[in-house]
Amino acid sequence: MTTLYESAFAKLNLTLDVVGKREDGYHDLKSVMQTISVRDDIEIDIGTGKPWCLKCDKEDIPTDSKNLAWKAAQIYLDAMGKDADGLEIRITKRIPSGAGMAGGSADAAAVLRALNRHYGEPLSIYALAELGAQVGSDVPFCVVGGTAMCEGRGERLRKLPNMPDCFFVICKPEFSVSTPELYRKLDETAIAKRPDNTGMESAILAGDIEKVAQNLMNVFDPVVTAEHLELNYIKSIFNAYGSIGQQMTGSGSAVFAIVTEFEYAAVICNMLRDNYPQVFIAKPV
Ligand code: ATP
Repeated sequence: MTTLYESAFAKLNLTLDVVGKREDGYHDLKSVMQTISVRDDIEIDIGTGKPWCLKCDKEDIPTDSKNLAWKAAQIYLDAMGKDADGLEIRITKRIPSGAGMAGGSADAAAVLRALNRHYGEPLSIYALAELGAQVGSDVPFCVVGGTAMCEGRGERLRKLPNMPDCFFVICKPEFSVSTPELYRKLDETAIAKRPDNTGMESAILAGDIEKVAQNLMNVFDPVVTAEHLELNYIKSIFNAYGSIGQQMTGSGSAVFAIVTEFEYAAVICNMLRDNYPQVFIAKPV
């Protein structure tokens, strides 16, 4: 039996635009995504000789084939024609669920990377990302990581240079958002402001963190904030204590601030912690 270890990094959407509705009912997105240092830890025992099993230290996460990590292992082994002779996957969960931080997708991507490494890297990282699209739309990005422009359902991605150094403060409020309902509401609402993805790309290329912060934009943010004014409260704390830009990530409900000094991040954390147990300080990775 062999044990594999892999980190599963969360993501933030620096920009997020919905650019069209497809015939299959899904939406086409365009988003600059960034992996961050908030992470789950994945351990995989291969060759246990027993039926597959998955263990997670958080109770609300599925521990069967509904878990995206399990699904990813199944898809990889089927695609490569391998028999692992029993798998045990263990997940130490730190990425909050229903946050828009791709917790499940990050775990799936980590499993794909770990298995591909175990079998001697038969797939390139981009081929692995393509396989990941069968697991979920955020998985291709999570396989590749770093900074990238993602399009379509997330399966078309282009690596960008690393974003300039900074700290993120991320706050996950108690409530979660139903993603299908959110898309329905967005369809009914005229999108007033869209991200300038070209502007964001230029800011990243120039290594200009102020411009990156100015270009943050997520079309879902006003829709969710209109129903959960609490997000405005969190953003006002960000703003008052040194944030240079803030917004919701993905379809929420986590919101994040960009700060340039660790001291600002620490102060924001202290200001929020009494009301919000799920506050994180992270760096881009
Ligand atoms: P995204 O940003 O991709 O929309 P999210 O933060 O909204 O992600 P997740 O944390 O990925 O959402 O979890 C969404 C649901 O997926 C959970 O309710 C959970 O039941 C299911 N799920 C399946 N596998 C996992 C996993 N490995 N980790 C967390 N959730 C998982």
